[in-house]
Amino acid sequence: MPTFEEYVGSSHDRFDEVLIDFLKIPSVSAASEHAGDMEAAAAWLQTFFEEIGFTVEIVRGEGHPIVIARSPKKDDRPTVLVYGHYDVQPPEPLELWTSPPFDPQVRDGAVYARGACDNKGQILTHMLSVRSMLETEGDLPVNVIFVVEGEEEIGSHLLEKYLDEHAGELACDYVVVSDSAQFGPGQPAITCGLRGIAYFELRLRGAKRDLHSGTFGGGVTNPANVLVEMLASMRNPDGSVAVPGFYDDVIPLLDEERKQFASLPFDEQAYFAELDVNGATGEEGYTILERRWARPSYDVNGLDSGYQGEGAKTVIPNTAVAKFSFRLVP
Ligand SMILES: [Zn+2]
Repeated sequence: MPTFEEYVGSSHDRFDEVLIDFLKIPSVSAASEHAGDMEAAAAWLQTFFEEIGFTVEIVRGEGHPIVIARSPKKDDRPTVLVYGHYDVQPPEPLELWTSPPFDPQVRDGAVYARGACDNKGQILTHMLSVRSMLETEGDLPVNVIFVVEGEEEIGSHLLEKYLDEHAGELACDYVVVSDSAQFGPGQPAITCGLRGIAYFELRLRGAKRDLHSGTFGGGVTNPANVLVEMLASMRNPDGSVAVPGFYDDVIPLLDEERKQFASLPFDEQAYFAELDVNGATGEEGYTILERRWARPSYDVNGLDSGYQGEGAKTVIPNTAVAKFSFRLVP
């Protein structure tokens, strides 16, 4: 019988197969046409957990189901709760994918598919670790509760409601959140905080129908013009957010934190090269890691108005829609 380490070390291909199987399920929580796929992903998890002897509870309510799986409880050991999610972000625009989002491909040792690194890969790391330990050592040193929800990408509504009513049933000594990242290849990290979000959709309406700019331009209010002015007005030239009071309760970074961030092997030029950009804008006075990890930010996430097809159309659109959000810090 191999040891746990030997077993894990020699199971790379087998683990990849499990991941690929999971990734093939297009569990897009935001799109109602994928409701059946959400069920399929929850059922996939249920099967995995039942096969390793866990007790599975599928929590249902308004929204996508939550899968809760528990190892057989033993009173002499602490309990670890592992949180993750099986839903993924919508894969559009599809034409930008090198390989289809739900047809996983391995290239240079990496698996490419929607959800591979958010969050199916990570949660599966924990699941396969537990399974490997059971297969090699026959027991776990801790009680484990997995909570895998299907609405992380759309607001975790069902989970929030469930936690309000059933937090006691999830009593544990430690919580491990799988929904984070390594610092880099071969550089594991313990993430001790993530930014929150406030997300908005803004819809402006002008005239009762689209108008021709040659006939009406300058004589009516164009909602697209107004929308971009409104969006731009929320950002100062120095990269800070221009919403009054926005920074009032933001806790400043400690010198110690800034030192720790600065001590990480972060290569700005490699970062720019990887993103194929010449540089970065952002809040003045902060490094890129500080901006990304410890400062709030504002981003427009979607714009829709007017003519998007090939060539020109001199339209004054009658509606303009923006989706935008703020990343929040303590
Ligand atoms: Zn995630």
